Amino acid sequence: MQTKLFIGGDFVDAADGATFDTIDPHDGSVLAHVAEARREDVDRAVAAARKAFPHWSRMPAADRGRLLLKLADAIEADAENLALLETRDTGHPLRDTLGLDVPRTAATFRYFGGMADKFQGTVVPVEAGFLDYVVPEPLGVIGQIVPWNFPVMFVGWKLGPALAAGNCVVMKPSEVTPLTALRIAELAAEVGFPPGVINMVPGYGQTAGQRIVEHPDITKLSFTGSSNVGKQIAMRAADTLKQVHLELGGKGANIVFADAQLEAAVNGTAFGIFHNQGQACIAASRLIVHESLKDEFLDRLVTLADSIRLGDPKDRTTEMGPLTSKLHWDRVISYLDVAAQEGGTVLAGGKAPSDPALADGYYIRPTIVETSPDARAAREEVFGPFMVVHTFKTDEEALEIANSVDYGLGGGLWTSDLARAHKTARELRAGMVWVNSYKRVNPGSPFGGVGISGYGREMGFEAMREYTEPKATWINVDAELPPFYPRG
Ligand code: NAD
Repeated sequence: MQTKLFIGGDFVDAADGATFDTIDPHDGSVLAHVAEARREDVDRAVAAARKAFPHWSRMPAADRGRLLLKLADAIEADAENLALLETRDTGHPLRDTLGLDVPRTAATFRYFGGMADKFQGTVVPVEAGFLDYVVPEPLGVIGQIVPWNFPVMFVGWKLGPALAAGNCVVMKPSEVTPLTALRIAELAAEVGFPPGVINMVPGYGQTAGQRIVEHPDITKLSFTGSSNVGKQIAMRAADTLKQVHLELGGKGANIVFADAQLEAAVNGTAFGIFHNQGQACIAASRLIVHESLKDEFLDRLVTLADSIRLGDPKDRTTEMGPLTSKLHWDRVISYLDVAAQEGGTVLAGGKAPSDPALADGYYIRPTIVETSPDARAAREEVFGPFMVVHTFKTDEEALEIANSVDYGLGGGLWTSDLARAHKTARELRAGMVWVNSYKRVNPGSPFGGVGISGYGREMGFEAMREYTEPKATWINVDAELPPFYPRG
């Protein structure tokens, strides 16, 4: 297991020898001591990335793409190991890391590997006699800061397009879950990425993160994390006029209309909120169900939630693992008190499991609370297996509740009526909408939000645009230019 910083193609200790512990959330044991990057280490990483940039950015795009494709193959070949590492570091059940997260990471690298030599410029039809061509140029050194909830996938989402476009990267994985990012750096070195193109500097936000935000040689910052930190970062990045891309929190609305297919909606709703213990920015954390359907829908949903198998995430039959850190567990648990004080009714969960085998881990039962749309628990991101329920009478009311929060990331709806589906999707204030499904992602489909969920997009052509700057070059081929200041 690699636990050092990855700078300039080598695994190295932190300059001052600092380390931090990463914890197994299943039992609270120390999993590894990891080198902790601080200011000086970030500076070294940025210098290595700058040095690598001229060669990497001028390399034929197809060659960059080939390396990304090789990395995708290496990730697939290492899938069992990567998935287990991710499971131990995050608490995601192995069935998810092996079945979803690692394959998606490989697929993302493969998608952007294929994109590298297909993302092209344009020629603009300007005045006669001129050729105006526009080339998407890489930006330089990109700083990327990521959270702990899907660490392996975020390496693919962030590195894939940035590297395909010809940039070099300094990435700070979360201090809570740094291990799979370091393993991917190791695989990248093995498949032949030149030194300095990828640099990994695990460390804390206030030190390593802050230095990335402030560093004058970083051209663009791509940040995924909470809305509060995102705001601070945007303000601080203004000092160096860095470009900023923000992927922030969410409070996803999930509307179930009276004409929904019940079984599919119940299953999709449970997946939407409880997958990855609800630690997903696009989690379906607000169920908005038609009043005529409420009793039957909730009966089925509560039965399903109560039957979800909590357990050791390394066990392949486990359906829900622990939350990823004790700090976060405390935060999620605190919302149970908030909901109770606000008069919410707990319909399912609302407590830690009673199984003594799970007593040292950061577990919480799938929780469903009926409460008012004005309640704090219904407006603030809890980021756990915690769903609030509201009911509605008319389509307008459903939309009003759905759009009443400040977040605008993902949202879903369940209906058999095609016109209602399109109309509601159009009116939902969100960057992504799923109809009769929830939480679909694909490397080709833009991912991002509106409102306090941030701005900019991951994935697809949009991500390539995020990581390039269009440069227009005007060539006077045979234009006759009369003098602007005629004399004599
Ligand atoms: P966080 O904002 O606390 O931390 C995210 C990252 O930022 C970490 O690497 C952290 O070390 C770093 N950081 C913290 N303070 C910093 C500072 N002052 N300067 C620079 N870096 C700093 O978020 P978290 O608790 O790690 O993750 C959960 C949050 O992430 C949730 O709000 C969730 O919705 C959001 N998220 C959003 C998306 C998306 O794509 N929109 C995806 C996943 C998670």
